[in-house]
Formats: sequence, C-alpha cells, structure tokens
Amino acid sequence: MSDKPTPLSGFPELLPEHRAVERRVIASLSRSFELHGFANIETRAVEPIDRLSKGGEIDKEIYMLRRLQADDAAGDSGLGLHFDLTVPFARYVLENSGKLEFPFRRYQIQPAWRGERPQEGRYRQFTQADIDVVGRDELPFHFDVEVVRVMVEALDALPIPNLSVQVNNRKLIQGFYRGLGIPDVTAAIRAIDKLDKQPAEAVAALLVKDAGATEEQAQRCLELATIRVSDTSFVERVRALGVDDELLDEGLRELAAVVDGCATAVSDHVTVEANLRIARGLDYYTGTVLEIFMAGYERLKSVGGGGRYDKLASDGRTTYPGVGVSFGVSRTLIPLFADGVLEPGPKVPSTVLVALVDEESRGTSQEVATALRRRGIATEVAASAQKFGKQIRYAERRGIPYVWFPGVDPDRNEVKDIRSGDQVVADPNTWTPEETDK
Ligand code: AMP
Repeated sequence: MSDKPTPLSGFPELLPEHRAVERRVIASLSRSFELHGFANIETRAVEPIDRLSKGGEIDKEIYMLRRLQADDAAGDSGLGLHFDLTVPFARYVLENSGKLEFPFRRYQIQPAWRGERPQEGRYRQFTQADIDVVGRDELPFHFDVEVVRVMVEALDALPIPNLSVQVNNRKLIQGFYRGLGIPDVTAAIRAIDKLDKQPAEAVAALLVKDAGATEEQAQRCLELATIRVSDTSFVERVRALGVDDELLDEGLRELAAVVDGCATAVSDHVTVEANLRIARGLDYYTGTVLEIFMAGYERLKSVGGGGRYDKLASDGRTTYPGVGVSFGVSRTLIPLFADGVLEPGPKVPSTVLVALVDEESRGTSQEVATALRRRGIATEVAASAQKFGKQIRYAERRGIPYVWFPGVDPDRNEVKDIRSGDQVVADPNTWTPEETDK
C-alpha cells in the first residue's frame, strides 16, 4: 500500500518561497497596523456553535468538532471552527471587557474555516487580516474614517496589483429607500446586492416583487446604484434624484467624510471610491460599508470588506459598537502566486553557504558560520564535501547569494558572490553582505 497522501482541496499549503512572501506581507500589515496603535490579539480556533450560528441566522458553512474517542452522545463538543475573525473578536470583547481599554483597537491575523466548495480564491481554510475599533456604549464616527485610512495605508505598502476600496453607507441607502416610500427596505437592499450577479431588469423585478416598489421607484433605486465616483460629487448626484430623508442626509455626510478623510492617503495603487451599490449582503452593518477589489482579479469578487456595526457585541447591559475592515490574505496571495504575478521569495533564509573542504574540517566551517551568525548573518554549512562547483550549485538552487570558502589559515578566508562571480578575501568577524541581501 502506498503512503502517498491524497491532496485535500480547499486547504492550501504554500511552498517555502511563497510562505516567505506571505510572512513578509503579514509582517508589513502588522507593522502598518501597529504604527496606528492597533494591538494584536489571537483568539482560539473554536467557538460554541450557538455563538457562531446566532440562532441559525447565518449563511456561512461551519465546521464542527467532535472527539473521536467519545461515545456518540458525548462526541458532539458543541464547538465549531470560526468562519471569520469578527465573531470571535466580539466574544473576546465581552469576555474581557473589564480588562480592556475602550475604544479598543485591535488587529488579528489568523486562519478562518468555511465548508465552501473550493475554487480560485475560495478556500476551506484561509488567512484573514482584520482591524477593528470597538467602543463601550458609543464609538464616534471619526473611527470609520480612521479604519478605512489605516487599511488603505497598510495595503499600499504591499507588493500587489492595484486595489480599489469601494465605500458606501447603509444609512444612505436605507434613508433613500425610506424617503422614496419603498415598503420593505431590507428586501430592497437584498435585491440591489444582487446587481453584480443579475442584469438590472431582473433586479428591478425583484424590487417590485420582494420590496413592494413601484416600477418608477425601482428605476430610482437602480439610478442610485449606478453612482460611482472617487470624490464627493456623489452628494449632488443623489440630491438630484429628489429624495428627502434625514437618514439619507446623515448617510451622505458620513460617506463624504470617509471619501474626504482618505483623500490624502490614496494613490494610483490604492484608490477609494464612493460606490452606491455596495451593500454587504445580509450582514448587520449599520453605517459605513466597504468592499475591496483587485485590478485584473475582479473574478475573485472582493479581496476584503467591512464596515460599521452599531452592535458588534452586547451582554444585555452594555453594547459595544465597532467598525472594522477585513483583508483576505489567502484570497489575494494564492491566485497571484499561481499566476506568477508575485515574485516568489528565497527558498531558504540563508545569506551565506559555508563550503566544506572535507568532512574533517567541518569544525572549521562551523566556526565561520558561528562568527557570521553572531553578527546576524543567516548562514548554513554545506551538507557534504562535494567538489566546490557542486557546492556552488547547491547554493544557487536555493537562492543563497554568497558561498564562503574557509582557508587553511584564518587569514585566507574568501567569499564569492555567486551572482556576479566576484570573490574577495574576507574575515567572518567583519565582512558584511550587500544591504539588500541581509
Ligand atoms: P465575508 O465575510 O464573506 O464578507 O468575506 C470577507 C473577506 O474574507 C472576503 O473579502 C475575502 O477576502 C475573504 N474570504 C471570504 N471567504 C473566503 C474563502 N472561502 N476563501 C478565502 N477568502 C475568503
């Protein structure tokens, strides 16, 4: 019988050279988030099923846990793997509310699990990077602007294709529908959310059938949904549709503040647009909503999303409003690796390979390696005392830029940059690699 494992689709694992890039991306995101004072937390992988499913209202496929050794009745642990980082964060806030400082700003970069049908950009285990700010009882609006800006800055530092952050506001859409006199506002939001999958006429029919809109009202909802601009000119365009509503006014003010507030952070690489068709489906957002798209990868749908929840968590006495953005690390990076858009990193972290003259002198090579490592230079010793040509190829295949040749006497050490072929006399206690090779 063969022991060769069967590949498991939907549970991607990276080669070392891709993992090196993913770790750099995670380090870069972490640095950006910390630069803005976001503290890191890590939550456990499991949550009670009833917390995950919120009494059955959830559309995500949850993986459940059971103990193999337990008998049938006791086997069901009542636990499931979290499908995002928001649900565990909300629970963590409630559990630690007495010890946390509010407003609490946290970032979290961890895997999540969903029992979905795997495809490009859609996995059963995937890494997310989330930032949220949560307040006790209240959370001023300026945090909506802040979290979007922080994510824009963090994404701008990544070596990935152009991104478009498309923002809308639930108050704006709800107020517009209400002011227009649509009987079922929630059904209208649900219908408009289908615009990326269905033609406008089909959505108009849904607005009439499900939301109770007239043909004329349905057309105005569609007009609202076509507005997409990168400045605050949407305010005038919405006003021109002639709907009057207080909530609409508030939504317009908030959305304009987010777009304005990001104006100095955007670039060609990361843009922010007001897109009045973004609704974020059935999730319980109450104000700002956003989705992030990657140029050339629109087929992946959003690579990130988020918004404001006025009730991120509640323990009956206290309510914790929050606002946050989630970025799909796996959804973004894995397709870029597959397409060769993102350069792989080095296969090994070593900067230097110390060659081996013969097995007897392994100690000498190890001493050189120790001296280099003491100075922070990642170093490995050759696996075997093959011909130097073979040892150089060993380094080449792994992407190690320097090969060190230990001399018989300590003054005769030489180091070769195998890319240029330059070879110089060097002392392991003073030699330094090129800045870019560290
Ligand atoms: P959602 O919670 O469904 O709105 O998804 C938020 C973000 O999580 C998306 O924009 C993706 O970046 C990411 N995401 C959701 N589902 C998956 C999945 N199955 N595989 C990879 N990334 C996902």
